[in-house]
Amino acid sequence: MTHSTDRNQLLFDRAKALIPGGVNSPVRAFRAVGGTPRFIERAQGAYMWDANGQRFIDYIGSWGPMILGHGHPVVVQAVQEAALEGFSFGAPTEREVELAEEILRHVPSMEMIRLVSSGTEAGMSAIRLARGATGRSKIIKFNGCYHGHADSLLVKAGSGLATFGHATSAGVPPEVVQHTLVLEYNDVAQLDEAFALHGQDIACVIMEPIAGNMNFVRASVPFMQRARELCTQSGALLILDEVMTGFRVALGGAQSVYARALPGFKPDLTVLGKVIGGGMPLAAFGGPRAVMEQLAPLGPVYQAGTLSGNPVATACGLATLREIAKPGFYDALAARTRSLVEGLAGAADAAGVPFCADTEGGMFGFFLLPALPQNYPEVLKTDGARFNALFHGLLDGGVYIAPALYEAGFVSAAHTDQDIADTVAVAHDVLKKL
Ligand code: PMP
Repeated sequence: MTHSTDRNQLLFDRAKALIPGGVNSPVRAFRAVGGTPRFIERAQGAYMWDANGQRFIDYIGSWGPMILGHGHPVVVQAVQEAALEGFSFGAPTEREVELAEEILRHVPSMEMIRLVSSGTEAGMSAIRLARGATGRSKIIKFNGCYHGHADSLLVKAGSGLATFGHATSAGVPPEVVQHTLVLEYNDVAQLDEAFALHGQDIACVIMEPIAGNMNFVRASVPFMQRARELCTQSGALLILDEVMTGFRVALGGAQSVYARALPGFKPDLTVLGKVIGGGMPLAAFGGPRAVMEQLAPLGPVYQAGTLSGNPVATACGLATLREIAKPGFYDALAARTRSLVEGLAGAADAAGVPFCADTEGGMFGFFLLPALPQNYPEVLKTDGARFNALFHGLLDGGVYIAPALYEAGFVSAAHTDQDIADTVAVAHDVLKKL
């Protein structure tokens, strides 16, 4: 295809003249893998079509929300009906109550919830609430975990546990990140040391229980257990960022997976997004009544949003959650996800390429490494050039995975056994040539 017939390229050129990098969220620009991003025209079920008319089997699913696949008829109908009733009222609606009931029914660690419009907003608000509720300033996050782009979270580790973080983005003053301590994921000793040094000042620990922003790295059970104990002992709040894992790895989120190994386990606050909106801008945070009642208008912690609890978004989320709560949904999704990575592992094995993978529910990650990484530096040992070649080979073959080696993948209920088999066949050819 020449430049003048490649509609993706023409659209990208137009976009770059008007929108920084041609995209409205950086990872879409294919900077890590090179090449031209595909401009998507439409999607249905497990497939998306780009501006050149090429079809892709979609394993990004809008970065997680599309757990039912694209354009599920029940969800489309709910959205159409809601849109006819009005787009936004800026006043409370019954559907917000219904969605709150539906979410809390499945995630019992939350007694109350507040709806917002993005994961960034939810994470930022949960941290403000934790600070307001504890009267403390310092927060702990982990290297490689992403919780949205709030100023205090765009931070990398300082030079030791006594020093706090450095901003990873221009425009974030050092004073704003001076309260953020960045630790290595799955490092129990560091966590112990940080609490020994700063325990009385720590408002919260925020973590991804299964870190999808490191592709797929699970918090080890001892690490999660120790984080819970240290928070409880010191009076800090444990915030699980389940924006990606919530309703994706299980109906009860990753916290329900950890509660199997750690009876009674629960976080203090939970942050949700992605699946709960079914593809519409919707996210949430919630926790115990006593903490949530610190929020305005009841309490002193301010938080608000013009479009929060938007009636079309809540219709989309509610219809999605009601579908995925049906018996057997997660068993089938998990089995399909496992069969995908087993097929990919077989293809890598046949090609003699190092490969390892992990899945939980409808979320998966794979690495061109001999063993599963436990933290971000280990994730980055992946051969980037090899991953990029795999990415482009899959894309050319009609298989769309995330354009960066540190992003998780997602299978939807719309993916069929044939889709999985087709994907594995493409991967087989590509891996052989790596
Ligand atoms: N937390 C996690 C774990 C995420 O994966 C993301 C987004 N990928 C966010 C927070 C931020 O969500 P949003 O992009 O909706 O602001």
